[in-house]
Amino acid sequence: MQGSSIPETVLVTGGAGFIGSRLVSELMGAGRRVVVVDDYSSGRRDRLQSAAPMLAVADIGAPGVLAGLLADERPGCIVHLAARVGVRRVLADPEGCRDENLRGVGRLVRALAEMPAGYRPRLLAASTSEVYREKRAPLDEGDPLRPLDGRGRWAYAASKRRAEQELDHARAWTSGSGPLHLRFFNVVGPGQDADQGMVLPTFVEQALAGEPVTVHGDGDQVRTFAHVDDVARDLASLVVRETMPGGALNLGGTAVCTMEELARCVVRIAGSRSEIVRVDPRQAVSTRFEEVRHREPSLARARALDLARTPRSLEAIVSDTVARHAALQPPRESCASPAS
Ligand code: NAD
Repeated sequence: MQGSSIPETVLVTGGAGFIGSRLVSELMGAGRRVVVVDDYSSGRRDRLQSAAPMLAVADIGAPGVLAGLLADERPGCIVHLAARVGVRRVLADPEGCRDENLRGVGRLVRALAEMPAGYRPRLLAASTSEVYREKRAPLDEGDPLRPLDGRGRWAYAASKRRAEQELDHARAWTSGSGPLHLRFFNVVGPGQDADQGMVLPTFVEQALAGEPVTVHGDGDQVRTFAHVDDVARDLASLVVRETMPGGALNLGGTAVCTMEELARCVVRIAGSRSEIVRVDPRQAVSTRFEEVRHREPSLARARALDLARTPRSLEAIVSDTVARHAALQPPRESCASPAS
């Protein structure tokens, strides 16, 4: 299906991941035919429900994988979420993660270019709030961005910025207003793995185990959390709307708090006796670690698109994560300190 008509078949790269799997179930609930490609590098088959979508277990950076899926399935919409993510993984090999993320984007652009003229799918691609320079106020899509050649801590942000540019260059092969760049702000909730140091699941595991809850530095860093189910619902509504917008779009919530406040909230809701301790992230995570003090989205554009209408409160997000954590999280050897 092409042009601005609502797509029947949706290809989700990274569809076995944390956000991707929730999107897949929303899309299937909306009656779409969903095709997932995932290499399980951080995704898991068990995240996808038994009414499974069509699933290709493959690396999207490998030759022919995306080209074959586009040629065979002709999805009317592509949601590109596959990426090497997580502060621990990125800091362990920043330039490797950047190159791998860009390899996938390069394959996607080439696959679109090779399709017959007239095939013009919708394209939504995951970017990140990390592309923005620091600002102690809500970030708006027009705010200044970090350099394209960022290294170390900023290699992931650089890979997402460059991905936005490369996909914009491919706009002639996409429908409507061109690619939509999804700038996610701390999407959290049940089912997010703690192993890459994501802050909420790490705090939840520590609190449930009665271990010290490890807050980085002074604990005054500000973040804004969104429940993954709220975000997945908004993503699905973008996929199936009559006309899809292009450009950059902040997607996040309104649950703004400091890391100290988050730790207190988790300990209270988990009914834990854990103490809250301070750790130096340069020792606990990586010597490459650099802190971002404040990250908060302006949701003006999202709201103008009728998105982010009823974001959950911090209490509601933490309560749901604590309640469903044990059932949705794979067993983990020990709790390390988080990154946010
Ligand atoms: P995730 O790690 O759970 O999902 C990524 C998925 O992509 C995984 O299932 C993984 O196995 C798959 N994948 C990675 N490389 C692949 C490859 N080469 N080929 C095929 N599959 C591959 O992470 P997530 O939190 O669901 O993130 C989804 C997207 O959103 C990512 O692009 C991420 O950069 C972006 N994002 C997420 C957040 C957040 O708060 N969760 C914030 C900013 C941006």
